Amino acid sequence: MFWDGVINFEPKEFDSPDVPGSGVNMKIGFMHMLQSLRVNCGFKLLVDSGFRTPAHNTAVGGEVNSAHLTGEAADIRAIGPRTRFVIISNAIRLGFRRIGIGDTFVHLDMSLTLDQDVMWTYPTGTTKKIPTVTVTTTI
Ligand SMILES: [Zn+2]
Repeated sequence: MFWDGVINFEPKEFDSPDVPGSGVNMKIGFMHMLQSLRVNCGFKLLVDSGFRTPAHNTAVGGEVNSAHLTGEAADIRAIGPRTRFVIISNAIRLGFRRIGIGDTFVHLDMSLTLDQDVMWTYPTGTTKKIPTVTVTTTI
């Protein structure tokens, strides 16, 4: 195994699509929490997005300060109300303090520099977060 004690995940599952092998940038502390979540959920957790390069993060509409950039976040596939409930209830119990709920996935991160104890949703029908950063230009 690549990460000590992390038996259900491999780095390639967390690769930023534009840089094969970049999944190794996931933080070990986050991976231990995700491993605990996997054990408590009792079913395979599919990773829709893990580590992101700045270029890929921009391409998918991620926040400029997204925890995906620092290897402290993952979007876990969650289709259906029961799967979503199991993932989220266990995540909260295990100490995840930043949770985003999409139609088909749950974003989990353990950034300590971003807001704590927050849960947000994504617009219906989207599979990625819509940027909320406003870019201003001078004419
Ligand atoms: Zn995410």
